[in-house]
Amino acid sequence: MPLALQAILPDELARVCNIDVSDARRIVSLVHRRGALPDRAPATIRRAALEAARAAGHVPGLELVDRRASSVDPFVKFAFRLHDGAVIETVRIPLEQPGRYSVCVSSQVGCALACAFCATGRMGLARNLEVWEIVEQVRRVRIDLEESPPQLPEGVKARVHGVLFQGMGEPLANAERVIAAVRVMSEPSALAIDMRNITVCTSGLPTGIRMLLREVPAVRLGLSIGSARTGERRAIMPIDGAHPLEEVLAAAGEHARATRMAPMFAYTLLAGVNDGDEDALALADLARAFAEAHGVRPRLSLIPYNSIAKEGTDDPFRPSGRLAAFREALGARGVGSIVRYSGGGDVGAACGQLARPPVRSPRRRLTVDPDPTPR
Ligand code: SF4
Repeated sequence: MPLALQAILPDELARVCNIDVSDARRIVSLVHRRGALPDRAPATIRRAALEAARAAGHVPGLELVDRRASSVDPFVKFAFRLHDGAVIETVRIPLEQPGRYSVCVSSQVGCALACAFCATGRMGLARNLEVWEIVEQVRRVRIDLEESPPQLPEGVKARVHGVLFQGMGEPLANAERVIAAVRVMSEPSALAIDMRNITVCTSGLPTGIRMLLREVPAVRLGLSIGSARTGERRAIMPIDGAHPLEEVLAAAGEHARATRMAPMFAYTLLAGVNDGDEDALALADLARAFAEAHGVRPRLSLIPYNSIAKEGTDDPFRPSGRLAAFREALGARGVGSIVRYSGGGDVGAACGQLARPPVRSPRRRLTVDPDPTPR
């Protein structure tokens, strides 16, 4: 199998091809700027180095099958077809500062974790994405920003500022490839995204969290809480049966203590399921206990539920009408929170809505523990 050149770092390319690191760096830069190797070597790259890279690798692509811009906010959803016919989705998210965007990437085709409030979780897992398939989503959004620039104040240039692993799939169930993709994304000659602007959101795989800390400690951690009450959490997040929240919080605490970075605790509010005052109190206690134990306050991000029902089917959940009351109850316990604006709902780009029928489908659900084996 030829190497996918979008997945490789300059040092590795230099070693594999037996070429100069400076040439390897320029080749990597070309690959990420153009999405292809040039037919002729530019003046800055030795011809023999380019030929060696061509012999060792190739630059595979994702086929864009859909691009939908929301009509109510500046979110854009992309659907890419992979070489085996499966389709994944990627979302461009505008950040507060004009011209800055984050890319919400997929890490798997489908997901085995089956969180009840998530459309991807209903697909089952078809397969893990390769490193290049993860990296390429970000590169394509960057190219799209250049080719179809959004309207911005004069003098402001659009650019990809960060990456969020919160698209299709549980990133830490594909931890080795996700970590390799993060390294390429942050490599200055590749996508040059500051690791501190990359967040990996997990539903709770402790070994994966520790691996992230060990391998790429500058990356931020997000954790989907679902509910701070054990029975309720397990009912909507089956992974809690394999890895109870305390176990996950212990790993998140190690991450927070070592990095001094506040983890993001995501909480999707579901009417009548996890939005009562007792739920808010349990969440507040959890956040306070975490801060006391680890010396870092988690950032609580409340996410209004976005419908995942397909046309003509019943939605299992309803959005909560208690958002303000829930925040108040948290505030009364001295715990601050933010409400995540989850845009792109009209194009199915909002949190929890990403889903495509997998083409190759032994549908796998949570039957084996997806937490990566410690190395
Ligand atoms: S929320 Fe994340 S981990 Fe849970 S089913 Fe959806 S994609 Fe998988």
